[in-house]
Amino acid sequence: MSAPTVFDKVALIGVGLIGSSMAHAMRRGGIAGHIAGYTHRKETLERARAVGFADSLHDSLAAAVKDADLVVLATPVGTFGELAKEMASHLKQGAIVSDVGSVKTAVVRDVAPHVPQGVHLIPAHPIAGTEQSGPEAGFAELFDNRWCILTPVAGTDAHAVETLKTFWQRLGSNVEVMDPKHHDLVLAITSHVPHLIAYNIVGTAADLETVTEGEVIKFSAGGFRDFTRIAASDPTMWRDVFLNNREAVLEMLGRFNEDLSALQRAIRWGDGDMLFNLFTRTRAIRRSIIDAGQDTADANFGRTKKTP
Ligand code: NAP
Repeated sequence: MSAPTVFDKVALIGVGLIGSSMAHAMRRGGIAGHIAGYTHRKETLERARAVGFADSLHDSLAAAVKDADLVVLATPVGTFGELAKEMASHLKQGAIVSDVGSVKTAVVRDVAPHVPQGVHLIPAHPIAGTEQSGPEAGFAELFDNRWCILTPVAGTDAHAVETLKTFWQRLGSNVEVMDPKHHDLVLAITSHVPHLIAYNIVGTAADLETVTEGEVIKFSAGGFRDFTRIAASDPTMWRDVFLNNREAVLEMLGRFNEDLSALQRAIRWGDGDMLFNLFTRTRAIRRSIIDAGQDTADANFGRTKKTP
């Protein structure tokens, strides 16, 4: 016998990679009685309709959130405040308002003031994604064996938190509860700074005058192409991440710059031991990530060989 639904109606505000993946995973697991999707552009609505992962699609926020037990903001973080304000008077009493944004302190700051009494705000962040975007990019397995971090503020209804926890577990995730500020610090080093480094190195290579763009592309398999995958991530989403996690990103960038200067010095002074010791430690971290099931040990990051 299959498990009962967790929510009668879920409204996804935004039907891009994350929103559409949630819909696919909800359908796979029979988690919601009705999946409603909202997006502001007609063209995206039509594309979502063509893929067919929602029971209803709307260009009206009020219609999408009407009678929903769970409303999930799945648009760029910079849009959350306005959307929360606009939907506030249409939310059902007892509903949970959540999100999937990559930063959390700013979500509490922007969304909490608009959440009416009797509605539970529980911010969330699934640590899963790809560099693809849009309604065609989603797939049901995106959250399988990945972590989802919930960041409820003090005093949040414990039953509502448990229900959202069950929801994410049924989507395939492991769930951890964390303070929003700590979340932002952890993600600054595990996700935001790595993206900034990728954007930066790809930009630097593109601006070089002594090495041509043709050469950069031709010889990219030497390491560069792995940065380009990350640097192809959605510009709007990532602009909003950096504008909304400024403090934590700047703190981690400070540490990063200090360590980079130490490496620069080691190279200048021929300190091979320093380089070797660091590279040995980092190799062990890669091993731990594979052991924890967060990546594949297959050669070349599991890239399949193209047949000619
Ligand atoms: P996406 O594929 O680009 O989809 C974004 C969605 O938001 C689209 O449906 C888009 O609709 C809609 N949207 C954009 N601006 C809007 C506005 N002003 N008002 C209403 N809707 C708007 O993005 P995504 O990767 O799913 O990311 C969504 C959220 O998930 C972000 O907050 C991001 O931080 C978070 N997240 C992303 C990842 C990842 O790896 N991608 C991982 C974890 C969390 P239109 O096409 O109609 O504009």
